[in-house]
Amino acid sequence: MIDKKTKIYIAGHRGMVGSAICRQLSSAGYSNLLTRTHAELDLTDQSAVNEFLKTEKPGYIFLSAAKVGGIHANNTYRAEFIYQNLMIELNLIHAAWQAGVKRILFLGSSCIYPRDCPQPIKEEYLLTGPLEQTNEPYAIAKIAGIKMCESYNRQYGTQYVSVMPTNLFGPDDNYDLENSHVLPALIRKAHEAKIRGDKEVVVWGSGKPMREFLYVDDMANACIFLMELDISDGIYNIGTGEDITIGELAQSVIDVVGFNGDVAFDTDKPDGTPRKLLNIDRMRALGWKPQTSLRNGIAMAYADFLSKEVG
Ligand code: GDP
Repeated sequence: MIDKKTKIYIAGHRGMVGSAICRQLSSAGYSNLLTRTHAELDLTDQSAVNEFLKTEKPGYIFLSAAKVGGIHANNTYRAEFIYQNLMIELNLIHAAWQAGVKRILFLGSSCIYPRDCPQPIKEEYLLTGPLEQTNEPYAIAKIAGIKMCESYNRQYGTQYVSVMPTNLFGPDDNYDLENSHVLPALIRKAHEAKIRGDKEVVVWGSGKPMREFLYVDDMANACIFLMELDISDGIYNIGTGEDITIGELAQSVIDVVGFNGDVAFDTDKPDGTPRKLLNIDRMRALGWKPQTSLRNGIAMAYADFLSKEVG
């Protein structure tokens, strides 16, 4: 169990995953939550991070702060993705160790695995082959974070555990048309096409790549589940164990949104990794499984999109 008296720091609490972790911790009765906005604490500022953790001394850290984005953002802002993510990890993990923080849950990503590795992807495939080029800088930063956790555990006896989520979506997602991930982008495209009465929705790439999608509340649940267990080390894939093509995903989204037109494919845009399905046996063996079907998740995400649009 997480000690209710000890402070729990959620780094990145305004992001999609961090805010879901906060919601679930609060509803599970944890009130000792520690958060800082970007304006209050710049996680790329080493001395500010040192000072913050030395003063606050949390017992647990959910490290969900990161610069994230979809295929276009990763491919375009390559320097920002590697720099900001490395800085956040270096500063927080090192300062946490110095401040005596015993437990960290570090959020990685399924893009850390080799581009062409066997599917479903097992945790042990890490560093067995070349990465996908479109998000290599981000993946390298996340691999560094995983290796920091592992190295601090080995040398200093900390319990810093890493989780590798598949593609996440849900409330507080980024709906930017250029820089978001595929699912929120498709929700917005289908909604706007419906409002305008367009004939088609344009989907990037061939529609053939396969992806796995996990509703963010299931991800938050997995993170808290792992923190509550007394796990010392390791990497844990978090997903559903099922994937679909981008073309099928687009069809599901337009059904939920109620758009009556067609799907068109813009093959000038990149496909990225052909397939990215996680093997989640390690989490299943611990007794965790996802709760939300893709269809229900898309419906809840669309409701969230509409509430933000109107509000
Ligand atoms: P990835 O999983 O790292 O490749 O990240 P994305 O979620 O950005 O993209 C997943 C797949 O969806 C890629 O094959 C994209 O080309 C495809 N895709 C189709 N339409 C879109 C879109 O409107 N936005 C994004 N981001 N991806 C799209």
